[in-house]
Formats: sequence, structure tokens, C-alpha cells
Amino acid sequence: MIERLISTARSYLPDLNEARLRDAFEFARAAHEGQLRKDGTPYITHPVSAAIILTGLRVDEDTLIACLLHDVPEDTERTLDDIEERFGDKVRFLVDGITKLSKVHYRDDMEARQIESLKKLFIHSAQDPRIIIIKLADRLHNMQTIEAVPKPEKRHRIAKETLEIYVPIANLLGIWEVKNQLEDACFRVLLPREYAEMIRLVEASEKERESVRKKTIQAVTRLLRAKKVPFVAIEGRQKNLYSIYKKMLRSGKSFHEIYDLLGVRIVVEDIGTCYQTLGILHQHFTPKIGRLKDYIAIPKSNGYQSIHTTVFGMNGIVTEFQIRTQEMHLENEYGIAAHYFYSNKKQTTLKKDVKKKYKWVQKILDLQRNISSNRKFLEHLKLDIFEDRIFVFTPKGDVVDLPRGANVIDLAYHIHSDLGMLAVSAQINGKPAPLTTQLSSGDTVHVVTSEESDGPQMEWLDHVHTHLAKTRIREFLKEQDRTTVLDDAEEVLDHKLQVLGLAGMTALTPLQKVVAMEHFGIETWEELLYELGKGNVDLSELLGCLFNESDLIGSETDLLDVHVYDRHQARRLKSESIQKVHRVELVIESQNRVGLLRDLSNELANLGINIIAIQSLPRPNSSLSRMEFILEIFDVKEYERTLRSLRKVDGVVSITRVQNELSIPLSLDDVQKKRVQ
Ligand code: MN
Repeated sequence: MIERLISTARSYLPDLNEARLRDAFEFARAAHEGQLRKDGTPYITHPVSAAIILTGLRVDEDTLIACLLHDVPEDTERTLDDIEERFGDKVRFLVDGITKLSKVHYRDDMEARQIESLKKLFIHSAQDPRIIIIKLADRLHNMQTIEAVPKPEKRHRIAKETLEIYVPIANLLGIWEVKNQLEDACFRVLLPREYAEMIRLVEASEKERESVRKKTIQAVTRLLRAKKVPFVAIEGRQKNLYSIYKKMLRSGKSFHEIYDLLGVRIVVEDIGTCYQTLGILHQHFTPKIGRLKDYIAIPKSNGYQSIHTTVFGMNGIVTEFQIRTQEMHLENEYGIAAHYFYSNKKQTTLKKDVKKKYKWVQKILDLQRNISSNRKFLEHLKLDIFEDRIFVFTPKGDVVDLPRGANVIDLAYHIHSDLGMLAVSAQINGKPAPLTTQLSSGDTVHVVTSEESDGPQMEWLDHVHTHLAKTRIREFLKEQDRTTVLDDAEEVLDHKLQVLGLAGMTALTPLQKVVAMEHFGIETWEELLYELGKGNVDLSELLGCLFNESDLIGSETDLLDVHVYDRHQARRLKSESIQKVHRVELVIESQNRVGLLRDLSNELANLGINIIAIQSLPRPNSSLSRMEFILEIFDVKEYERTLRSLRKVDGVVSITRVQNELSIPLSLDDVQKKRVQ
């Protein structure tokens, strides 16, 4: 087996250090000595098979070596340090990325480990995509040999997990070969009867069409040669069984209606030749109307490029041709792997590398958005992957890694303190946005600065998330003069109270003030405000002294059934002490428009807020509509966040809390905008 691996690797890696690869094999073989796979073969067959799968993607030497070693630290006496000593720090990094992941071997707390390790997979892979590529090969070989796993439930579980996590990853990374094989292996385990039926159908129809395919390829070869059009390859295409099966289910069509299409792919040197080839095909075969798709001029959103045309081909059989260049072909078939391993050969500027990284992270983030399934497990995944970190982009395409919850101000300080000092507003994904806007992964953020800027505002302290930004803002505020500081503090506190549905500063009783002064050990109310203005007193803490949570968002209710809601469970993981929840009733007044309710619910869903009830309230003689929402809110911060998000929804005019019937005015963001102007 090792000889096969070496000779395949040598065929595409002219500089391959054979001795080093062989050494890795020996190292792994010795480490796994005596261990057997479930099917009784020596353990070493697994990493070697996975490495052979990787040669299909034409990966580099370090990747092959890391693959050979991928189970060593996890399952043997040999450590990562041993690996580094012998194979260098790059190989160590790759193996490390995999090792942490494979601690997930379905023991007691499989789900938590699963999430944890996937998070690591993404974060490590964002630094080096080779890690995820090795992981996919590892999983593919495990799926190919899954028959050896004795328990059917376990086979099922692994297959399901593969289908729900690794197939989408391979799909998004565009590694089709691996994706199709993984998918069919899962199909075989999960739906054995349907799988067998598909095999039977495909084999039966292949027999018939094999000769037609040959004839078609011969005919096209002759045509192109006659016109002196150079080509790289003309080949048949294999569709994957699972996708045909899914298409049958989806469309309700029979196998023959779907699979009758004969697929032929033509790979040529350059784009000009693609169109030339298309012309020749259309001259010779009658094209089907409406079936010409030019994904070269207009690539698919995932970057896929090719020309597709369906024609009445040989013997009248409907044939789909795909025409593309060699470069597109590599990219289409190998996706991220093509990016990583082949584009290096061409002249790559630094800029291109950045772009490459951008694309990779972007795809991972898209994956995070797109993973969808009814299974609760994936709900958790969505909730928890990247829970702690977000990735945003500067207009130049640099990736900035920030803690979740960070806003534009955090980003500005993260980039440079001057940027924080001069920031006045922002453009997020090309749209103007206030500085306090919380950023989401994948946002492209341009921080707008002005020399006229008043500098950091005290209320920023209430919004920023990073220690760095807080420190810098405090430093600035300390230098401000007393009156400005006091004015600012008053304004901020007043506004905050209003946002929370209270009557502003006037609502404060002397007793409340005294309680707060005692809490902070400050003699006078003015001094307290001054300290607030300088950022030495935390606004949330002050509010906590002035009011109970129940004053702010109504009384607590026991959670009815903590296990009903995912979000509660997720929270509970973090803080076992959270047992109470507030029932908050809001009346939302808004312009009548289609989709409003959907937008409001979406906004709440994004925040993870549970809706207990929604009711439409009558509103005679008005074009406005009124709806009552009953929500479950954990704390004041969440309440504020919720109000802020709901106010942003198009058409919303006012939000009122039922309990005190106080209308909640302008949002903080609006105030911010006014300041900016
Ligand atoms: Mn493995």
C-alpha cells in the first residue's frame, strides 16, 4: 500500500521527498503496532488509505505526512512533540488540528464534544484549510469501511452525522469527488434498500447507454479535430446515486426521466475555445431551447464556471455537454483544494493570498449559516459554533477576529487607537450604520472617520465589548472637563432610563439615589454622575442599584419547562444559575405591510428570544396595525437588545410595554446618528 501511495504522490509531486514520506509511514506503523481496525486489518491501513484518497486531490507532501500521522497522538504513546521533532512544526500543526477533533469518539457526552471539536475544526481550518481536507479523507475512509462497525445503530449515527456535517462541508468547499463519495456511502447505510435499487437502475441503464456515450465522445473528438480545435479531455460524467435519488423524491419523476440525460464533459485550454466548441456542437446537434447556460460569463454564486448545453445527441438521445477550461475544471472539481494546492504554481501575489483566505473563511461562515436540518443537534451547532468569535472584513479584505458581541467601535480600536478616536460612523456591507452596531461574522466594515470628531462618547462604554476599547475610551474620558462629563453622564443615564420604558431622570426617587451612592461609596449624586461620565462607574451596575430587574422588565416567572427550549439549555450550559425568566408583553405599532410579522419573528428568532404568544389588536380608523407579543426575556441586557432590534424592523412605529403603558421613544441608534450629523 505504501508503495502505491508513494508512486501516486510522485506522479504529481516532482519534488517529493520519498524518504520522508516513507519515514512517516514507518513512524505511524510502529506507533500503531498491534492495533487492529474493526475489520481485523492492521490499524495502519486506515491512515494510508486516507492518504491515498488525498492523492486524488493532489495534496502536498506535508498534508500526506500529517494524514499518515493523524491518529498517532490520539491513539498511541507517541505525542505531538515526537511528531514535531521528526517532521517539523508545520506537520505538527496539521496533526494537532485533527487530533483535538478526534477526541470525539462518541462516548458519554458525545454532543458537547462534537460541538467543541467542530468549533476547533473551523477555527484551525480557517488558518490552514489542509486540516479540513485531511479530516474529510479520514471520514471518507471510515465511511467506506463502516460495514465493519458491528452495531447498526452506531453505523447509522456515524452516517447521519457525516451527511449532516461533513457532506455540507465538502459541498461548500467544492470538493465534489469527496462529497459524492461520502454521500453515497451514507446513502448506503441509511437507506440500504433504496441504495440497492439505485445501483440496479443505474447499472441497467449504463449498459444501454455505454455504447451511445462512446459514440458521442468519438463523434465530438472527430468534430473538434476536423476544425483544429485543441482540447484537453472529453469524458463521460458519473452522477452520484444519492443526488439522483433526491431529485426523484423532490420532482416526483421516475428514474428514467431524470437519468436519461447523457452527460459529456469537454475540457479545453482557454475561454475562447469554450465558445468555439459550443458553436461547433450547436452546428452539429440541435440544441434544446432554453437549456444553454453560460456560467462562464455569469458564474454561479459559489464560483462554479462552465458552459452547459443540452442537445439532441447521437441516436436522438438527449445529451448535456459541459464545456470548461482546465483551470475551471480543477476549481470546479477540487474547490478549495484547487485554490490551495494548484494556484501556487501560478504567480501569486500577496493580495491573491489574502483573497484566498477571505474566500475560505467566507465559505466556512456561509456553512455556518447554511447548515440546516430539523435535528436539534444542528440547532445547537448553529448556536454554538463561533459562539465566542466572529470574523469581519476590512474593505481591503483583511480578516479581523473579534469576540462575539463586538461592535464597530471595538473593531476601530482593534485596528488602531486613532481610528477609534476619529470614528464617527460606519458602512457595514456598503450600508451606513451607527458605530454601536453589533457586528456579525462575514460583515465587511468600513469605519468612517472625521477630524471633526468629538472623540469617544461615554455611552460607548455601555456598548463596547473588548477590554482594549474600554480602556482607550476611559483614558480619553478622564481628560474631559467636568461640565462636559456631567452633561454627558446625565444625558446618557436619562436616555437609558427612557429606553427602558421609564420616565427618565425625573423618575428617580431620592431613596434610589442614596442606595446607589452607598453602593459605590460616593458622597454626592453629582459626584456619582461625574464618575459615571469618566467611565469609572459602570452604567449597568448603576442601573442594578437603582432598580430591581423586576422594576425594569416585570416580575420573574419560573421557567415552565426548561427542557422545552433549546436556548434555555444552551444558556444553562454556561450558567447553571439561570433559572428565572421574565414574561414581557410588548405592543408593537406599525405600518401595515406584507411580511411584517415574519420580519419581527425572524428578528426575535435571531436573538434566540422565545415567543409565548402573538396577538393582533384591533385598531379602528388607522392605517397602523397593533400587535401584542409576549416574550420570554432573561435579563435587562437581553431586553434592551430585543427592543433595539425590533425597532430596526421596517415599518415599526412604536413599541410599548403593556405593564406601564409607557411608550418607548427614539432608539439609542437614532441618537447616535444625530450626534454623528
Ligand atoms: Mn482516523
